[in-house]
Amino acid sequence: ISKELDNLRTLPCETLDGHRVALWANTGLLADAARAQAFGAEGVGLYRSEVAFMSSARLPSESEQANMYREQLEAFHPSPVTMRTLDIGGDKPLSYFPIKESNPYLGWRGIRVTLDHPEIFLVQVRAMLKASLGLNNLRILLPMISGVHELDDALYLIHRAWGELHEEGFAVEMPQVGVMIEVPSAVYQAKELLEMCDFLSVGSNDLTQYILAVDRNNARVAALYDYLHPAVLMALKSVVEAAHLQGKEISICGEMAGDPAAALLLMAMGFDSLSMNATHLPKVKWLLRQIRLSHAQALLSDVMRMDNPLIVHSTLSLALKSLG
Ligand code: PEP
Ligand code: MG
Repeated sequence: ISKELDNLRTLPCETLDGHRVALWANTGLLADAARAQAFGAEGVGLYRSEVAFMSSARLPSESEQANMYREQLEAFHPSPVTMRTLDIGGDKPLSYFPIKESNPYLGWRGIRVTLDHPEIFLVQVRAMLKASLGLNNLRILLPMISGVHELDDALYLIHRAWGELHEEGFAVEMPQVGVMIEVPSAVYQAKELLEMCDFLSVGSNDLTQYILAVDRNNARVAALYDYLHPAVLMALKSVVEAAHLQGKEISICGEMAGDPAAALLLMAMGFDSLSMNATHLPKVKWLLRQIRLSHAQALLSDVMRMDNPLIVHSTLSLALKSLG
């Protein structure tokens, strides 16, 4: 079977009836980029920029950041590389930027931190834009957006960074800017957010945690953490519909994209791309190539009528068994 998976590397992720889904990788370190290519990723759906910040002893400078980002963009050029702005707080601490809170998941994290520290955000965006000079495969992704006001503020800063660079003589292109859907309020404001941005990417790890009120890293409640919970599936389906109504692209970059059973449903919902840890790419591609889109859609419509997560799980495992 490993030979078969290896042959898959260069084949498209296409269902038996010709529906294509882009399979992207999540990366952090440069080594992830090489690995992602070895597994046949067609682009990067989530570059977690905080990984480099977490392994550094201080805030990396603009030129240090630009060099790191350039390596990522070059490794995948001309395929898209979706770079998320700094997403610290919650479970992602920076030793030189301590945040002490009793409830960090509901606290100062992601875009909230960088909007309060525009100097950090501007340096990072300038570094991303500089790194993309002449490559133009950069997409910028904003984490933990909970409403239009934050997107408005972030877009203002991105345009400011772009304007500064032009004044300094760097003819950088304005990249596509997207919003992570990982806070429940953003699900309900998807339409308004889409009017202001170019694409969406669902962060199902956090979205599941916030919809179900279950800490994603607490073993005691781990059994309740379930991205196949009908309420989560309903949220996902509604954001895909909102994106496509406005003709915009939508991706998903949480762990569930790398789970073949979940990937089947996500494809049926209409996600344009699935971004995952590269090691999951071959099995997801293998499965999606075994099925017709119409079959996956029929399965999805059955699942969307279920109110019990246990039934969703058993239905999906039966469906997977029948596909081998
Ligand atoms: C997510 O929340 O689903 C996500 C992709 O981001 P992270 O896991 O880095 O919070
Ligand atoms: Mg997240």
